[in-house]
Amino acid sequence: MIPGSFSYHRPSSVQEAVGLLAKLGDDGRALAGGHSLIPMMKLRLAEPAHLVDLAGIADLKGIRSDGNDIVIGAMTTQHDLIGSDLLGTKIPLLRETSLLIADPQVRYVGTLGGNVANGDPGNDMPAVMLCLGATYHVTGKGGERRIAAREFYQGAYFTALEAGDVLTAVRIPVPPAGHGAAYEKLKRKIGDYATAAAAVVLTMSGGKVATCSIGLTNVAETPLWAEEAAKILTGSTLDAATVKKAMAAAEAITAPASDARGPAHYRTKMAGVMLTRALARAKAKARG
Ligand SMILES: Cc1cc2nc3c(=O)[nH]c(=O)nc-3n(C[C@H](O)[C@H](O)[C@H](O)COP(=O)(O)OP(=O)(O)OC[C@H]3O[C@@H](n4cnc5c(N)ncnc54)[C@H](O)[C@@H]3O)c2cc1C
Repeated sequence: MIPGSFSYHRPSSVQEAVGLLAKLGDDGRALAGGHSLIPMMKLRLAEPAHLVDLAGIADLKGIRSDGNDIVIGAMTTQHDLIGSDLLGTKIPLLRETSLLIADPQVRYVGTLGGNVANGDPGNDMPAVMLCLGATYHVTGKGGERRIAAREFYQGAYFTALEAGDVLTAVRIPVPPAGHGAAYEKLKRKIGDYATAAAAVVLTMSGGKVATCSIGLTNVAETPLWAEEAAKILTGSTLDAATVKKAMAAAEAITAPASDARGPAHYRTKMAGVMLTRALARAKAKARG
């Protein structure tokens, strides 16, 4: 339970952090809130020789509007997301999801950037970002680039980040006024990772679904964007028969592991159940 020895670096700018990480290569690792990385180091599942702490970089913090998008700095904590009036008004799904992550102590230091960059299929924010159509701002050796969240996740702990990259911000298009959204998470106890979870954002028009997007957590090696299930629901009144078809389509793309949270088949079925619950709550919140 004691991590290997490492050198600690505390850059004060993104450029300095990128320069350090590029020079250190596989020996260096970015440190954000440390609430995924440090436990991994204590278990010796990660043994970086150098930690590059991003906490001293003021530019990486904060939540702002930019046209029709909200841009959230990578070092913004889950606690900050919960307390943001801007997010509460524009994207309340982020507050709802943050409140289901771990416990207050973890949320005070755990960051949005760390949660989405980590690549752990159990993290809650990635599926929500797929659902919302978010884009990640990344700065590396070659300068800044933007990567769609839907193209970011490649396998468990494998993402589109390359050595030397720092994820600097998350850009989220604000869902239309009157949208409904919900995140339903099945967990064994308060503070647990999801057995299965589903995020839904939808709009209604004349009692029918006008647009719909669905993300699923911890039922595959990566978060899943359930595009086919959302297509099935679009144009429907969310009647029971259509919801059942969408549930089957969502379950069909899952491939969870059997683990302490339950056998694979159970977790697949729970993804379907979480989806139906999230749909019902999102519909109840939507106008139109
Ligand atoms: C008891 C406990 C319960 C938890 N329960 C949940 C839960 O239910 N749901 C959930 O989603 N999470 C949960 N977590 C994880 C928590 O949310 C972490 O804070 C989060 O996963 C990682 O954020 P962090 O800021 O702590 O990142 P760190 O642990 O510092 O970093 C995580 C990884 O991301 C990389 N990284 C971090 N920031 C950047 C960046 N800006 N650019 C490039 N790479 C970066 C690091 O190098 C590292 O590989 C739990 C943690 C604990 C300790």
